[in-house]
Amino acid sequence: MKVVFHDRFYEVYTSDPAAARGRMESMVKALEGKYSFVEPEPASERDLARVHGQAHIQQIRKDAPLYGIARLAAGGAIRAAETAFEGEPAFGLVRPPGHHASPDSCWGFCYFNNVAVAVRKLIAEGKIERALVLDFDLHYGDGTANIFVNSDEAIYFHPEAATRPAFLQKIERALQCPTPYDIVAVSAGFDRHREDWGDLLATED
Ligand SMILES: [Zn+2]
Repeated sequence: MKVVFHDRFYEVYTSDPAAARGRMESMVKALEGKYSFVEPEPASERDLARVHGQAHIQQIRKDAPLYGIARLAAGGAIRAAETAFEGEPAFGLVRPPGHHASPDSCWGFCYFNNVAVAVRKLIAEGKIERALVLDFDLHYGDGTANIFVNSDEAIYFHPEAATRPAFLQKIERALQCPTPYDIVAVSAGFDRHREDWGDLLATED
């Protein structure tokens, strides 16, 4: 597995908790030495425009440092998707997150929808027809769901269960979804962890 990461993701780009100091370091420490790291390029405006309206893009652009880091995160998702498409699993260790970013609005510490930008790029390039988007974050990815509503491009799945075995079983069943898909795009929010709000999953999950 390749880990997509850039030193710029250490930067504190705004005052929300997702941008706080010290959050990336522990993840880098856990992955370093076990996986090879690759750097992303920022997503282009064309990449963003496949998902977001011009007014939204221009709104984020007013804050130049934020715009730069948000484009780099979306570019990280693209790099992970391209690596996976070439046959090697990939993990985009990026921030800001994206699943609360809709076409024309955003909230919840998200700015651009990283997963959707990556999926739409693979589709636009004719590499895939459909993705299964598995979002195991504690919170529902309203942005991702809004982007792909009534669309054949992605199946959005956000598992919910009261127990850890039931949660993992739901994911297994989702992966066996009868609708064919070409790639699995995971919104990997870690707030379902036993030591976080979700209080459900173990590190090995
Ligand atoms: Zn969350």
